[in-house]
Amino acid sequence: MMKPKLGLLVRHLSDFWWKKSQNQISTSVKKFAGNALPDLTAVRYKVKRGPYDEITGTHVKFFEQLLGQSRVITDPTECDGYNVDWVKTVRGKSRLVLKPKTTEEVSAVLKYCNDNRLAVCPQSGNTGLVGGSVPVFDEIVLSMKMLNKIISTDQLTGALVCESGCVLETLDNHLEQYGFMMPLDLGAKGSCLIGGNLSTNAGGQRLLRYGNLHGSVLGLEAVTADGRIIDCINTLKKDNTGYHLKNLFIGSEGTLGIITKVSISCPTRPKVQNVAFLGLKNFDNVLNTFVLAKKELAEILSACEMMDFNSMGISTDLLKLQRPLTTEHKFYMLIETSGSNSSHDEEKLTTFIEKAMSQKFIDDGTLSSDPTKMKHMWSVRERLGEGCLLDGYCFKYDVSLPLPCFYKLIETLHDRLDLSRVVRISGFGHLGDENLHVVVATPEYDSEIEAQLEPFLFEYVSQQHGSVSAEHGIGFKKTKYLSYSKDASAIELMKQLKKTMDPNGILNPYKVLPLY
Ligand code: FAD
Repeated sequence: MMKPKLGLLVRHLSDFWWKKSQNQISTSVKKFAGNALPDLTAVRYKVKRGPYDEITGTHVKFFEQLLGQSRVITDPTECDGYNVDWVKTVRGKSRLVLKPKTTEEVSAVLKYCNDNRLAVCPQSGNTGLVGGSVPVFDEIVLSMKMLNKIISTDQLTGALVCESGCVLETLDNHLEQYGFMMPLDLGAKGSCLIGGNLSTNAGGQRLLRYGNLHGSVLGLEAVTADGRIIDCINTLKKDNTGYHLKNLFIGSEGTLGIITKVSISCPTRPKVQNVAFLGLKNFDNVLNTFVLAKKELAEILSACEMMDFNSMGISTDLLKLQRPLTTEHKFYMLIETSGSNSSHDEEKLTTFIEKAMSQKFIDDGTLSSDPTKMKHMWSVRERLGEGCLLDGYCFKYDVSLPLPCFYKLIETLHDRLDLSRVVRISGFGHLGDENLHVVVATPEYDSEIEAQLEPFLFEYVSQQHGSVSAEHGIGFKKTKYLSYSKDASAIELMKQLKKTMDPNGILNPYKVLPLY
């Protein structure tokens, strides 16, 4: 527990009304109530339909024979749930949802679709934030939810093999009994599926500590557009035999193949965790605190998140979560440590906090190793993605920027945008990974604000040599802006790969590469 000299920090813990906030905590994004349906994507974004066949009764009959009637959804009302993205910004009009249970079924579906030029949109948890997981027109939705078996857990190494439709949080809960954990964690963990995570190369809160999925995924199985099953399942860390094909599928957002199985290296679950929630007066101090945290906490630092004043408003005013600090600040940081020896970790944390306070980097803070309290502090940060939707329509951006100009983007938007049309501009994100989430909320979709934001925001990011998509991917919504982060020669090679692996362009068309 905390040493008495950190009285300032400990004091605030007693201010919490834990029972109340506990009831408000949700790890599942399913609880979000939602707002109005968006316009059809094809209409709002004036997209031209690709050269695909329309679904006929003959096609439906084939799928019913293959999967059985209960796993072929044609009821329009039921299909509608698969046509809208989680943030309600894009909407397709698919009238066919297929729910395969095995790799062989996925293979048979794709072979048939390829032979008949039917476009397919793979969908896992549908928590993606760039419009990649829902159809643009009438693509067949291939729901991966029923491929949800855990195949093996190596108790010596922590290598987990499972089907791609397993829920991320379910996998993490499963691993707990063996003393392991999933190497990634995100706010959508209760709904997103591991196959969706791989397809987007999801980052999340712990990337700082465990690296990205290109490192922790040991192997995978995928089905290509023509139905070929590519078995790259491997449970060993080292395998330098030829091209690393798994990396073609990680982050390709369903445009090169459908991931059906995953093998992933899972780290040991930490015995001790601490979370510090800090209040700071300016962004320079945020950076100073981050540098100090890396130096003083070193190997036990497992997350470093930041949020600004307006972001805190989302948690407290919209989601009605209890403030972790009773005082108000321009910036907040959440710093997490994970280790195996509580006294060692506390000593390090104490030194870090004392130095940060004596150098006046932080103005206030609270610290806990109590699971309930840590969960509450995390929820204040993790639920921002959900909470901001309560403001109305959200223009969401997810960019990488060098730290010196990280927050300047938010300040620039305050100057640039017509604030009379804006409800809130907020900035938060995975500071430790140079990853900023920008949210501009308007009462409803506002094309004028969109025109003030785009392409300006992407130009700004490109000028700073940042990335227009740090972790959410390109999906449908950012295809126009791929060139702001990728050289023409790289895009050309991507197009060649796409043509080689999916010559008919049936896999997730209109996404990542603007082919049509
Ligand atoms: P979906 O949204 O269903 O699909 C995502 C993309 O992958 C689509 O293009 C889809 O076509 C394709 N796809 C899905 N399954 C397969 C498959 N088996 N094979 C091939 N292609 C497939 N993302 C982060 O990176 N970090 C975060 O911290 C983070 N926090 C979030 C918090 C909230 C509250 C929400 C709603 C989202 C957050 N996201 C975050 C975004 C999202 O959760 C991730 O992109 C996640 O990896 C998507 O997984 P999913 O199962 O929902 O996939």
